[in-house]
Amino acid sequence: MNYKIPKTEVNKKLNSFQTLFRESGFKITPQREAIYKVLLESNNHPSIDEIYQKVKKQYASISLDTVYRNVESLEKMNLVNRICGIEGKNHFEANTTPHHHFICIKCHAIFDFMYEKANTQKIHLPKEILNLGKVQSTHLLVKGVCKKCNSHK
Ligand SMILES: [Zn+2]
Ligand SMILES: [Zn+2]
Repeated sequence: MNYKIPKTEVNKKLNSFQTLFRESGFKITPQREAIYKVLLESNNHPSIDEIYQKVKKQYASISLDTVYRNVESLEKMNLVNRICGIEGKNHFEANTTPHHHFICIKCHAIFDFMYEKANTQKIHLPKEILNLGKVQSTHLLVKGVCKKCNSHK
């Protein structure tokens, strides 16, 4: 929800995406680019199925599996984040600016929120965590009942 990547930023990201793919040896296919575009233009953390429904409008013959594999390669290139939602359902986003998520346990909506203090560079992690290994990123996942669901219970 909420955060939407501005149009100019979408175009910039699509341009750098082509260079990035070329450099890392991943093939740029029109389908892959279309999938990335769907993610860049979306503001609600779509699931694979939702991405598939959108890409299918443009590429009628694309399979769910192809969509999944392409999203996975985008994830490997750190262009896309995965959020594990309610009941283990995966959601994806192309907004790679550090931010955190609130998930509604009733309607399964995912809301973005910024919380500087919990970002990897700022957070002071307890030694219980540091003892486990080198920390790469931190992500705060808050579960609750959103305002909308809470108002009509
Ligand atoms: Zn809700
Ligand atoms: Zn998000």
